[in-house]
Amino acid sequence: MKHDRTIRACSIWRALDVVGDVPVLLIMEQAFLGTHSFDEFVSRTGLARSVVNGRLKKLVDEDCLAKKPRTGGRGFHYVLTQKGRDQFPNALMMLRWQHKWEAAERDFQVRLHHATCGHATEPVPVCGHCHAEIDPRDVAWREGPGLAQVIPHYERRRFNGDVRRPGGRPLVDTMIELFGDRWATLVVRAMFTSINRFDDIQRDTLMATNILTGRLERLVRQGILKTVPYSSHADRVEYRLTAKGRDLYPVLLALLQWGDRWFADERGPPLLLTHRPCGHDLHMVATCSHCGDELQLANSRFTIEETGAEPAP
Ligand SMILES: [Zn+2]
Ligand SMILES: [Zn+2]
Repeated sequence: MKHDRTIRACSIWRALDVVGDVPVLLIMEQAFLGTHSFDEFVSRTGLARSVVNGRLKKLVDEDCLAKKPRTGGRGFHYVLTQKGRDQFPNALMMLRWQHKWEAAERDFQVRLHHATCGHATEPVPVCGHCHAEIDPRDVAWREGPGLAQVIPHYERRRFNGDVRRPGGRPLVDTMIELFGDRWATLVVRAMFTSINRFDDIQRDTLMATNILTGRLERLVRQGILKTVPYSSHADRVEYRLTAKGRDLYPVLLALLQWGDRWFADERGPPLLLTHRPCGHDLHMVATCSHCGDELQLANSRFTIEETGAEPAP
């Protein structure tokens, strides 16, 4: 039942309730890179101790990390739970996008190796049925039995994305700034469901018009969206995804699948996707660009390289 004060609560929305936060994304990234201790989370993310403390507590409450006594020593460390490990495809798809579009933005580069085949790899999002690489234009979607409408509660708290590391380099890139911000992610979600005009996006997200204007301007500045005139009046524009923006689709799919797995109720998934080329329900699998086998946390290795990128002016 559509209500004019509610928005679509698909699994992306539910997933963002947990991970749609810049410090959470930075901490989960480090957890996948093998960080376990509080002090390492602080030094490797560059976040304030109080911020790390609060977000680790949240991730333990959400059952993404478990706090365990350290074996043979004093204190505690943090380990990924099944629900946390299940976010590995999200992390891979974010890494893929960062490598492809903003390789020089951050002060370190994560390189991925597939231990099974022994080669350096880039994750490739493919259909689990036909193994073709996923293109959003090949995916049909319809509302599923579990689609609910919710009244959105946007938290005022928003992490300041302009924070810099001591060396002057930015802490976050477009990827983390985007998915760390529910508003911006909902705008991108609207685009993938063919909602392109300001008033329609506003109805779909229920964002205050000034906030929506700010997010649209930022997404255009970041090269995620472009404006296209839709009438003879030069000031009537609609928003479209650029190639860089369209390539965010595997990240949204990974979030959707994680949300479906951990938050769907007994009615079933809120959104049903079909891969048109093969006609089957779409289930995305992250595969190795070298051998084509599935990349899993247990068979993937990371190395970290300093990029030597100049700090942004
Ligand atoms: Zn397929
Ligand atoms: Zn491989």
